[in-house]
Amino acid sequence: MDEQPRGQVAFKQPKVELHVHLDGSIRVQTILDVARKRGIRLPANTVEEMTDIIIVDQPGSLTTFLGKFAEYMHVIAGDRGAIKRIAYEFVEDKAKEGVIYVEVRYSPHFLANTKVDPIPWNQEEGDVSPDEVVRLVNEGLSEGERAFNIKARSILCCMRHMPSWSMEVVELCKKYRDDGVVAIDLAGDESLNTQANPEHKEAYMEALRCGIHRTVHAGEVGPPDVVKEAVEVLRAERVGHGYRTLEDPVLYKELLAQDMHFEVCPISSKLTGACDPDFTKHPVITFRKDKANYSLNSDDPLIFHSNLHDDYNTAYNYMGFTEEEFKRLNIKSAESCFLPENEKQELLQKLHKAYGMILSTSF
Ligand code: ZN
Repeated sequence: MDEQPRGQVAFKQPKVELHVHLDGSIRVQTILDVARKRGIRLPANTVEEMTDIIIVDQPGSLTTFLGKFAEYMHVIAGDRGAIKRIAYEFVEDKAKEGVIYVEVRYSPHFLANTKVDPIPWNQEEGDVSPDEVVRLVNEGLSEGERAFNIKARSILCCMRHMPSWSMEVVELCKKYRDDGVVAIDLAGDESLNTQANPEHKEAYMEALRCGIHRTVHAGEVGPPDVVKEAVEVLRAERVGHGYRTLEDPVLYKELLAQDMHFEVCPISSKLTGACDPDFTKHPVITFRKDKANYSLNSDDPLIFHSNLHDDYNTAYNYMGFTEEEFKRLNIKSAESCFLPENEKQELLQKLHKAYGMILSTSF
């Protein structure tokens, strides 16, 4: 991003990140390495050339952005070594950004190769199932945790246009809940699918029944009704993006009163066309003014050619954020994370200590 003062860090303290996609955070070098190993031809030979093909650097539409995954997902999907490697490298990259706790999300089906239809990048049917994808990602994340000394948990995504996958997704959440999977998500194009399919609802009810945490992409480009449905029908505990909630003042007031958490992704929201490209008009400025509960997140740093520092720098440079607000929002993020209560308290203690804050509760 041209106006981004790259290389500068607005907030050097430990951070919590709650909304970032594993398949939107892959290193370009890894895509090239795996393609070479698998004999897959790419339209580029260098990191620079391949980066140019993958990234979105001008505001566009969510649909254009989602199309970018097709440029490289066929390289990684269905390759056991690659799936584990991207999870491990993800943890390393987050550690470098000063993140001490991250919840990373992905669709197990998108990284598998047992379901050919209708994933555009899945040309050949193989034997890597969504279940095995989750195991491989869990291995990569936990090896990364040990190597880089941060905590990484995962969220499994249902896809709006693929309701037939959703029950399998919730079953995987249940199966791997003691192995790093903390929640279920619903991702994909909400502008084309504004109402959740009955199968999504069934999956979310099963998650609720089993105590699996729930977040939903809603109100990013879709109308406030999508947010309302996410919270009232799908029983989401957090809202992915949620910017358009502001268009419904009654709903916004209700969510403020509930202390609903909004997973805000500044750079993403500009480049997907979700928000006005003028950052000084960003909805998160209203969230801040109203002392709402929200986090700052990178969403898909590969495609936006960004990292979490860029999102914090954006908030600092164009939205008037201060060090105090960065601390407050990270504490709120930790409070809203999907860790078990004892681990959440540990995380909060770490942040309080790093920020030099007096604990407001006793442990
Ligand atoms: Zn997202």
